[in-house]
Formats: sequence, C-alpha cells, structure tokens
Amino acid sequence: MSHFQPVARVPGDPILGLMDAFRADPSPAKLDLGVGVYKDAQGRTPIMAAVKHAEQRLLASETTKSYTSGHGDAAFGEQLLQLVLGQDSPLLAGQRAGTTQTPGGTGALRLTADFLSHCLPGRGIWLSDPTWPIHETIFAEAGLKVGHYPYVGADNRLDVEAMLAALERVPSGDVVLLHACCHNPTGFDLSHDDWRQVLDVVRRRELLPLIDFAYQGFGDGLGDDAWAVRLFAAELPELLITSSCSKNFGLYRERTGALIVCADSHDKLLDVRSQLASLARNLWSTPPAHGAAVVATILGDAALRAEWQAELDLMRGRVLRLRQGLVEALQPFGLAERFAHIAVQRGMFSYTGLTPEQVRRLRDESSVYMVGSGRANVAGLDEQRLGELAAAIARVC
Ligand code: PMP
Repeated sequence: MSHFQPVARVPGDPILGLMDAFRADPSPAKLDLGVGVYKDAQGRTPIMAAVKHAEQRLLASETTKSYTSGHGDAAFGEQLLQLVLGQDSPLLAGQRAGTTQTPGGTGALRLTADFLSHCLPGRGIWLSDPTWPIHETIFAEAGLKVGHYPYVGADNRLDVEAMLAALERVPSGDVVLLHACCHNPTGFDLSHDDWRQVLDVVRRRELLPLIDFAYQGFGDGLGDDAWAVRLFAAELPELLITSSCSKNFGLYRERTGALIVCADSHDKLLDVRSQLASLARNLWSTPPAHGAAVVATILGDAALRAEWQAELDLMRGRVLRLRQGLVEALQPFGLAERFAHIAVQRGMFSYTGLTPEQVRRLRDESSVYMVGSGRANVAGLDEQRLGELAAAIARVC
C-alpha cells in the first residue's frame, strides 16, 4: 500500500511562482516587481554593512551554541522593546511590556494565533481587505474565525469611513489586526487623525488590537513609523505587536522577529509570557539565535547603530525617490494624475491600480513582473529605466 497515495498536490505560492517565471525569462530588459524584498540600484538585496560588522564581532566573541531561552535573546528583547515603544515609554519603567523572540514576523503571527486560540478561545480576528495573504491563512489555520473590514476598495482608494463603520460592528472582545505602517499589499497608510479615530472605536468597542509592524523605518523613519504603535501603547491597557527585523535589518533568511505583549500590569504580563513560552515550545522550541544576536549587537552599540540607521535611511530614501520618479516619468503620457497615489503610498509596496489583464500584458509584452492584484514592489524599480517602464504602462492603459 502507498501511504502517500491520498496526498494531493497543492499549487505553490503564487509570488514565489512569479520569481521562477522571472528567472526563466531571457529578456535583458526584464524587471522583477514581485517578491517583497528590498533591492538596491543594482537590483541586489545586499547584506547591510552594520550587519556584516556585527557578525564579525559575534564570530570573534560568541562562546556557545547552546539553546537560547523560550523568549529568546534577552538583550535583543530589551533593545527591540525600546526601538518599537520608544526609550521613554512608561510601559518599560512599569515593566508592563515584554518580548518573545520568534522566527521572523511570520513566527510572531503564528504564535499570536496559537495564543488567541488557546488562551482567548472564541475571539474572532478582523483583517483589512485586502491584507498580506499569509494573515488570512495563519489565523484560519489556528482555528480562529476570520472576518474583514474594508480598507482599499475597487477604486484603489483608502476608505477610512467604511473601515470605521465596519469596526463599529465588530463583536466586543474580538481582535483587530492593523498594519502599523507600509501597508502590505496596498502601500496606503492611515493618517494620524485616522489612527485616533480607529483608537476611539477600538477603545469603545473593547477590541484587542494586534499591530503588525513589519516595516519599521521603511515608511517615514524609525520614530514616525512607530507613531501609531506608541499611541495605542500609551492609550490602551493591552496590546499585541508583531515585529519583524527582516526588512529593516535585511535579515530575511535569519528569521528574526518578536511578539511584543503590553499588559495592564507586570503580574499579568508574566501570566501571558508563561503561556507564550509554553506555546512556542510546541512550535519551534527555542528561536534561532543568530539574527537576534546581530540586532542586539547593532542596537547596543552607538557606532553600529548609527551605521545601520544611515543605511536604513538610504533604503527608505531610494524607495521614496522611485515613487516620485515613476509618477514624474508617467507625466509625458498624461498618466501622472491617474497614478499620483504611488507617490503618496509608503513602504515597499504599491497597489498600482493596474488590472490583472494589464499586469499580464506587462509581463508578456515588456517582461515586467508584478503580482496579479497589481501590487508592485517599488524597490524593484530601476531608477535609470523609469521612462521605459512608464512607456510600457502607457501601452497597456
Ligand atoms: N507582516 C507583513 C505585513 C509582511 O509583509 C511580512 C513579510 N512579507 C511579515 C509580516 C513577515 O515577515 P517575516 O519575513 O519577518 O516573517
């Protein structure tokens, strides 16, 4: 008998499939705007110099490869808390916030899903429509009831009114997932005023916010990007934050991230953390050490930190320049107004507003690869060839 006979084949991840198609395309003019990694002007995803320097130090100074603890690297946890909540956060002084290191932001979301299903059974979770596809599957997989609130509609505009109206109808106690900045996949972020209104509904309806913070430093800067996170942390007694170091430290494959819990007392924080360590034991036991050690080394050293911040500023600047540059390049084709939102959006991604048919034609006719939804990774653009891309877009519009 074949044990595996009943196992059917499932389709691969569409974005990774797009990468394969890109690699196989012989065109020298091809452009990969698919997968969400930062790229420099040469189309590479480099290791940051600050990371290399931290790694050199670690190579010389590390003394053991024995397991780290269930919550991971303590120095990493301390540093990340300050980076996310701000050095002066009263939550730090009150010992009301704690970090559990996870394999990337994805691991933090997975741990959150298990925490909700085990410790707060019956709570539904509400996601923006659209959201990062893994949000959809990760919470459903853990048995949570997944609902949606409107965010960006068919007209490719942020619809805050519809979002707020939907949140008003979310059952009290349910969890609302919010993107701190650089919304994936749309690039549309809430204004400060919008955030205050969301906070108001969350507080009145007694919802539990889960803020996904995967792009700190990629939008408007390290502090500005944390604005909403810090507002919620200051105004609410309880909050969950999933943080990723994949993009801002360029540590993608090192799987470096954390679940940050803000509780209303130190004692309750310890209760929650005991559960997280226990749940993590069944997922990955203890988290991978290297990426977290790199982050702790960088953030704990003034010179390395300054070097890292300067590199991050360059990355953010490049993305902002490309956004502006593409809109300018579309000007001669009379398309600048139609695509003006690209310069307003933040982070790596843009919902361009191109239809699946236009996306297909761009790929077939011009070797430009982006996700079928019309999501483009702006960092994949080539500053020298924005005119070429604008012409290709004009041909399909
Ligand atoms: N949340 C969002 C919104 C993301 O875009 C990503 C990365 N694509 C993650 C979480 C997870 O990041 P990581 O690679 O650290 O698991």
